[in-house]
Amino acid sequence: MTADHIGTCAEKVIAGRNLSRKEIHRLAENDTPEQIMALIFRADRVRRHFKGDEIDLCAIVNAKSGRCSEDCRFCAQSAHHPTRIAKYPLLPEQELLAAAEKAGASGAGRFSLVTSGRSLLKTAELERICRVIAALGEQKKLSPCASLGLLSREQARALKGAGLARYHHNLETGPGFYSAICSTHTFADRVRTLEIARDQGFSLCSGGIFGLGETLQDRIELALVLKKLRVDSVPLNFLNPIPQTPLAHQPPLPPLEILKSIALFRFILPKADIRSCGGREQALRTLQPLMYLAGCNGTMIGNYLTTAGRSPAEDVQEILDLGLKPRREGGGRKTEDSGRRTEKTRKPGIPAAL
Ligand code: SF4
Repeated sequence: MTADHIGTCAEKVIAGRNLSRKEIHRLAENDTPEQIMALIFRADRVRRHFKGDEIDLCAIVNAKSGRCSEDCRFCAQSAHHPTRIAKYPLLPEQELLAAAEKAGASGAGRFSLVTSGRSLLKTAELERICRVIAALGEQKKLSPCASLGLLSREQARALKGAGLARYHHNLETGPGFYSAICSTHTFADRVRTLEIARDQGFSLCSGGIFGLGETLQDRIELALVLKKLRVDSVPLNFLNPIPQTPLAHQPPLPPLEILKSIALFRFILPKADIRSCGGREQALRTLQPLMYLAGCNGTMIGNYLTTAGRSPAEDVQEILDLGLKPRREGGGRKTEDSGRRTEKTRKPGIPAAL
């Protein structure tokens, strides 16, 4: 495909129209470095049109680590793999609030409480999470998010009552490849959680991991499912192989293929907040700044769940060097789902039902 065709697709997306599968697949056929750079150049134009020059910064805390019953092949926290990571139960409230404070001080505008496990099984755990969310809501410094595994309607109601506005739950990879990376729950289970969260009025944050052994087509299928689910935020992670996991020796993706995949996500999900997250330093190496030009308008700063990130100051400097601006607050711009929700976030508080 020539640069003209890539440009035609970019203008179509900017005009507010969806690309057909055929057009997406033709974009994906751009394989040479020159073609991929042309794709990145146009994805940058799409990003700038919908997202301007601001980069959304978020941070996470691993609020409960390890001992997970699930067998996701990439994950250091699965009890099925003999990894050497810190394992601990849900952190005390004060530690979670201190982690939020630190995230805010380093430049993050969003902060997510992430717990290992298939789901939060204990009422006491959910109550603690709700208290922290309510406290963060009262502080009004950070937009709180939560990533607590598979979600029941009751849990979703409790979180909504505490003031949570966004729920995170990755689909990880395309539906056709999911069974190759996990056997203890299904892709449909994950989709169901996003539907429950959406029904409760949450903004949705969901993405995946590149480099698990999936094809480019699997990544495209993931993007199309996320589009159908009307997700607002799409975190993209890149496999950082963890010793003792089944994917410990998985060969890395070439950085240009990662950038091409990010660009395709921007073409498919033009209004979403696409954010580069775990593994970006190792996966993109010296090409890391190009992730913004390829279509990312957000990044996760600080440490990841079980691996260290680089210094937030370096990330902020990189954004400024590119002539972009770090954005400290979530929301405010058009998303894939602008105007869909009418339900107002309820006043923060712990629901009596818990
Ligand atoms: S990705 Fe989540 S569900 Fe899967 S093993 Fe890791 S902590 Fe458990």
